[in-house]
Amino acid sequence: MNFSYPRQIRLPDGSVMPFINLDNAASTQPLDIVAQKTAEFLSYYSSVHRGSGYLSELSTRAFEEARQQLFAFVGASPELDTAIFVKNTTEAINKLANRFEWLPDDVVIISEMEHHSNDLPWRKKARVVKARVDISGALDLDDLRVKIREHAANLKLVAITGASNVTGYINDLRAIARLAHTYGAPLLVDAAQLAPHRRIHMMPHDHPEHLDFIAFSGHKMYAPFGCGVLIGPKEFFQTGAPDYCGGGTVRSVTKDSVIWAPPPERDEAGSPNVVGAVAMGIAAAVLSKTGMRQVALHEQRLLEKLLAGLRRIPNLTLYGSAFAGPNRLGVVAFNIQGLHHLSAARALAGEAGISVRNGCFCAHPYVHRLLDLSPEEIAHYSKLAGQGNLAVVPGMVRISIGLYNNENDIEKAIAAIEELEQNPRHYAQ
Ligand code: PMP
Repeated sequence: MNFSYPRQIRLPDGSVMPFINLDNAASTQPLDIVAQKTAEFLSYYSSVHRGSGYLSELSTRAFEEARQQLFAFVGASPELDTAIFVKNTTEAINKLANRFEWLPDDVVIISEMEHHSNDLPWRKKARVVKARVDISGALDLDDLRVKIREHAANLKLVAITGASNVTGYINDLRAIARLAHTYGAPLLVDAAQLAPHRRIHMMPHDHPEHLDFIAFSGHKMYAPFGCGVLIGPKEFFQTGAPDYCGGGTVRSVTKDSVIWAPPPERDEAGSPNVVGAVAMGIAAAVLSKTGMRQVALHEQRLLEKLLAGLRRIPNLTLYGSAFAGPNRLGVVAFNIQGLHHLSAARALAGEAGISVRNGCFCAHPYVHRLLDLSPEEIAHYSKLAGQGNLAVVPGMVRISIGLYNNENDIEKAIAAIEELEQNPRHYAQ
């Protein structure tokens, strides 16, 4: 893997610091090639669809090409699907939640490993039922099957993450799609974590393993912030009013009537983030050209090395599986005994220039479960957090690997963590 990205940062005092980004599950840095191609487009962007000038035509073409690149990236159907550009995965899932017509008894089945972005939007609209995870944090497919069967009569949607942002576990989407479809429910895949690291194929619409809806973000796949996508059947978005409305969403407006535009325009209110969409399309094309198998193999090797190093460190607790495998992304959550997760993350950044993340990673119920907190402890810490006292709340440190990381990054991370483990008192704040 030979991708370059900035590895030094200039501080306000003018000094230059090397750094290693091992916080890729939060956001990746743009690959140089993505940044460069996006910068070329920056000089030409204009509003789309509404102008007849050269710039507008060029931008419209680039914007529409980005949709096609994203269709190709996840094996969607350009004829049957639509790709709606949004801000990020969170907005995509909220949009989908806003676009269903809800009945009072409707049920959405999610899992205990979901990010808040694939949990809270459903709680606002329906009864949310969660499929259990097992003791190691992996999705319990038998429990999912039981819950789908039990709630089949009112089941509106199954919404499951493609991969966990805490343990890196990859879910068996084919099996889940089959299950959901057996009981007549569509499936949404939160692909925020999966899309940058594994090949996704939405499969033909009439296939039992078809993924009906999928959502992911540009900033986790080597493109800038501010653009994400919701892909799903055109037919679904052809009816009903959009959640946001205004310019761009209509065919015609009179004093007292509106004819909505067909998808995707109907759901893209206001001037869209054309540069963000083009950058996301470029990133998808770069990833596809590299080959997601190559990306996965590279990250897999680094993950094996990282886990082998961490397993040797005493007084270090790994959450989820301690081993790499085909069903696991390069995401590793851990704690060092005697060192608060915040102190550990700060020390890694301050002492070794290594960026990681700490806390509960917007998946509080899952992290509580992995930390084995009692209901009383959860209530206690939840109260403290509500009062703004976040520093004492339990959590974890998370390393997450991207395709530009190399063996040297992993060796440095292991060495830095070893040092913290040997001198926890020194780094405790
Ligand atoms: N789902 C998962 C699994 C995630 O990891 C994240 C981001 N951490 C999101 C959803 C939300 O993504 P975004 O912040 O881009 O909306």
